[in-house]
Formats: sequence, C-alpha cells, structure tokens
Amino acid sequence: MLKSEIEISGIKIFLTQKKIRNLHLRILPPSSEVRVSAPLRFSLEKIEEFVLKRIDWIKNGQNQIRKLHEEGKIEMPPKFLSGEKHEFLGKKFEFELIRNSSANKLIFSAERFVMTVKGQSNFAQRQKLMDNFYRKNLQEMIPQMIEKYEKKMGVKVAEFGIKKMKTRWGTCNVRARRIWLGLELAKKPAGFLESIVVHEMVHFLEQKHSKRFYELMDRFMPKWRITDAEVKGKIID
Ligand SMILES: [Zn+2]
Repeated sequence: MLKSEIEISGIKIFLTQKKIRNLHLRILPPSSEVRVSAPLRFSLEKIEEFVLKRIDWIKNGQNQIRKLHEEGKIEMPPKFLSGEKHEFLGKKFEFELIRNSSANKLIFSAERFVMTVKGQSNFAQRQKLMDNFYRKNLQEMIPQMIEKYEKKMGVKVAEFGIKKMKTRWGTCNVRARRIWLGLELAKKPAGFLESIVVHEMVHFLEQKHSKRFYELMDRFMPKWRITDAEVKGKIID
C-alpha cells in the first residue's frame, strides 16, 4: 500500500494506492478532507485525470460541509487554538492560547478562556488542561446535586466518578450504588447535568427504562424533559 499527498487544482488529496479494483473518491466531514483510493495499476496521470473530472463535485461537496459547519450542524474537532470557541455549561466562550508562558494553566474569567502553556505545547497537553478544567468543575457541582436528590428520593449514592464516554452521558452500577458521569456534560447546561444525575439515581429504584422509570423522573425532576429538549433539540414524550 502506498500513501501520498497530491495537490490538484488547489485541493489537497490524500491518496492511497492499493490492491483494489476501482478508484474511490470520498470527502470526509468535518474537515472536508478528500481521500482517493486507487488501484496500484493506475498511473498518477490517470488518477489526476479522474480527480480533475470531478473537481466541481468535490468543491461543491466541500462547500456544503463548510455551510453545515457555519450553521452549527456539524462540529469541527477543537484544536485548542486562539480564535476558537469552547463550550462550558451550555454556552460558548472565546478561547485564547498564549504560548511560551511560565506555566501550563487554563483560566476562565470574564466569560472567556485563556490557556497559557510552556513552550509551544501539543494538542494532547492542551486537551488535558481543558479536560482537567471540566472535571474540576463537575466535581464541584455534582455532590450538591446528589445530596439534593438523596433527600428527595431516599436513596444513597456510595460513589460517583467522571470519565470520558463516547456514546452515553452517564451510567451506573446499581449494586455498588455508584454512578459515572460523562466529562462532556461540562459543556451542557447545568440543568442537563442535573437530569443525568437524577436519571442514574432513578436507576437505583427502577433498573429498566420502563413506564415507572419515567414516572419517577417526572416526580423527582419535573423539568427534566425541558432540559433534555434544550440539549437534544426535541421534546421526548
Ligand atoms: Zn438509563
């Protein structure tokens, strides 16, 4: 397999030449990256000719992705660089990166993020600073929420944890009375975080998402459907 980068009509193409029958062309959101897979027997001229014939289609596709991004329908992965906006408790805030500083720090004040890093820093270091900020804030907010609902619901949470979760907002271990909350919750409104805490705690009383489960949700946190709709953009009946 051969991998290379070529430029055709001002567009960067990530080319993979491998043992396949046909040539494939894809535009990947959210970056609009153009990927071409070509059979090994195809010459570079032939590949370029193929791409050139479809250059309008590619540009059109890239524009559509860009438009979706501008409309907020798809998100670009953050790089933690100046000019970006970062979410915190349901709002977006300006982000500034200051390099060659004396310490690695993330400060949130006056409605903006300022990250200072020693030297140039890499993506992983910057992401870690942001993750730590989110984790610290969740750790401060969650205990009060748990306490409030322990009284209302008559259940006890033995332990809670925060972790990065790809597909869920929260999870729990009913027997151990332990709940796990997703780090991404720090980006969402506090009411939504609260609804996830309550959701996991209701599982201590009802394990399945049954009718009774939602009756308990409605009883303990009547506005959970509203906070849910704010985040997911629709009302769940
Ligand atoms: Zn559940």
